[in-house]
Amino acid sequence: MTASAFDIAILGAGPVGRVLALMLARVAPDPSRIALLAGSVPAAAPAAPSTAGPPAAGSPAAGSPAAGSPAATIPAATIPAATSPAATIPAADPRVLAMNHGSRVLLESLLAWPDRSADIRNIHVSQRGRLGRTVIQNTDFNVPQLGSVVAYAGLHAKLDERVAACGVTVLSGPAAQVERQDADGVRIAQGDNTLLCRVAVQSDGAGATDLRRDYGQHAVLTTAHATLPRRGWAWERFTAEGPLALLPHPQTPDAYSVVWCSAPERANELAAMDNAAFSAALTQAFGDRLGRLSSQSPRHVFPLALAARRAQVQGRVVAIGNAAQTLHPVAGQGLNLGLRDAARLAQTLAGWLAQPESSPTARLTEFAQARQVDRFITAGLTDLMPRVFATGLAPVEHACGLALLGMDLASPLRAPLAQHLLQGFRA
Ligand SMILES: Cc1cc2nc3c(=O)[nH]c(=O)nc-3n(C[C@H](O)[C@H](O)[C@H](O)COP(=O)(O)OP(=O)(O)OC[C@H]3O[C@@H](n4cnc5c(N)ncnc54)[C@H](O)[C@@H]3O)c2cc1C
Repeated sequence: MTASAFDIAILGAGPVGRVLALMLARVAPDPSRIALLAGSVPAAAPAAPSTAGPPAAGSPAAGSPAAGSPAATIPAATIPAATSPAATIPAADPRVLAMNHGSRVLLESLLAWPDRSADIRNIHVSQRGRLGRTVIQNTDFNVPQLGSVVAYAGLHAKLDERVAACGVTVLSGPAAQVERQDADGVRIAQGDNTLLCRVAVQSDGAGATDLRRDYGQHAVLTTAHATLPRRGWAWERFTAEGPLALLPHPQTPDAYSVVWCSAPERANELAAMDNAAFSAALTQAFGDRLGRLSSQSPRHVFPLALAARRAQVQGRVVAIGNAAQTLHPVAGQGLNLGLRDAARLAQTLAGWLAQPESSPTARLTEFAQARQVDRFITAGLTDLMPRVFATGLAPVEHACGLALLGMDLASPLRAPLAQHLLQGFRA
């Protein structure tokens, strides 16, 4: 292979790829030798949003449901191909993301914290129809908040702004692919263009196929108002159908972002209901802790699966974020974990960037080893929770209830869970 044009090429400009680009720009002697390939969304990405995102402000998107009307049943994982760099900005991505304290500190240090966010000071975990609940509070850990909720699109916009000013080379265009690698570098194709780099980082949110679990669940996303709202509270309720989370809404005070997981048929049924029927079903599933819940917003359906790679590093190619592991959204851990991948990789490659002609192998091996435990614990926890609470077996569910009750009574039991959710495992 001939001389590399770039020291590092990052394939995929989602939040994880962009954070990596920002961190590398700070330590690279010449940030322009870092390439960020902001490719178009491929036709069938795992756990990707449905086509029917909410209309961007002032410009209803074709095919999206009109505000205030019930959503049509949405075909999962069919995404229109973007045709311009601007189209890669997911203004219509309806996801909201619970960011833990560690992620917030990281994003703030990069001046990339979104303009609007909602704080979570208390997390209430319970299971429907069974004993037990636990409350995790910021005061237990002496932190101003346990986490904060941001909109995926808002985070993306802020990161976009920062990346444009950081000096890395942004290459917009069609989806990029690793073509091949040898001892000297990696060859990447982006449409008709070919580029060479010394290390390639896959942050395209896809491609993890070694371990797969189909949960038989889809998530319905929407926004709801409560007659008795409680500011600063997030709720995770395990039901026989799947987990139901209500998070403080990042853009509308006293509203909640709803993430309701259930069997695909039920999810489609919920998505197709009229607003009154959906609001009644939501209130019934959630209970009366917030009074009556009412939703007038569009609904979006996301298919859920666990997809993970065993090895994050293969030669000079590294996978991070959802490209390394796509998790069930229970407990809101996917992006938090991906940001820890990015932070660790930037830290590991900082020294190598001063001598990029040297072999990166030892450093990449160190990176993969350092990330193993955190990936294993986080993926294991988020894999276990939705399955254990949905067995339909009363003794198992009672045991889960007792575990929640025990955690509520004994803060030393609660601490490890909360600590992990707050910051993740750091090697
Ligand atoms: C319903 C739901 C709720 C969630 N809630 C939370 C939460 O509360 N907290 C949390 O931490 N996580 C949450 N997650 C997970 C979180 O959304 C993901 O972990 C996170 O978006 C992963 O970021 P990423 O950058 O790795 O991948 P992505 O966000 O998927 O971004 C990948 C980017 O790469 C681009 N791309 C794809 N293919 C190519 C290619 N070949 N070449 C170039 N570019 C390409 C895509 O267009 C995209 O922009 C949730 C997920 C879902 C589905």
